[in-house]
Amino acid sequence: MTQFFAAQQQVNDWIKTSGIRYFNEMTNLSNLMEETGELASLMGRVYGEQSFKKGKAPECPKSAIADELTDVLFIVLCLANQMDVDLDEAFKVNMSKKTNRDGTRHLCNEKLKPREINAETADEQ
Ligand SMILES: [Mg+2]
Repeated sequence: MTQFFAAQQQVNDWIKTSGIRYFNEMTNLSNLMEETGELASLMGRVYGEQSFKKGKAPECPKSAIADELTDVLFIVLCLANQMDVDLDEAFKVNMSKKTNRDGTRHLCNEKLKPREINAETADEQ
């Protein structure tokens, strides 16, 4: 059971009281891309091969990632509200689609099976 309704309502209430009004859909799409970029930049440094510039590393990477994910989620909730999308229903339909389409696809994907670690090269990994 999902609970996007409560989150959509909370965002709508915040927009009406503190945000004045929603940015238009295209502005929010642009904002979503901006926030996605911030998340990508952070993840590229925490999980990827990029490094933080001196003094720019977050004190708690997990909290910083959670904050960026929530920035992304907030804008997704805004877009859903302003385009009258019921995310609880949409999520249910989408998960059903994924299950019907991909229910066995990943189970049969050899690339997703656990790798055997070769004892001779284990130290290199
Ligand atoms: Mg952000």
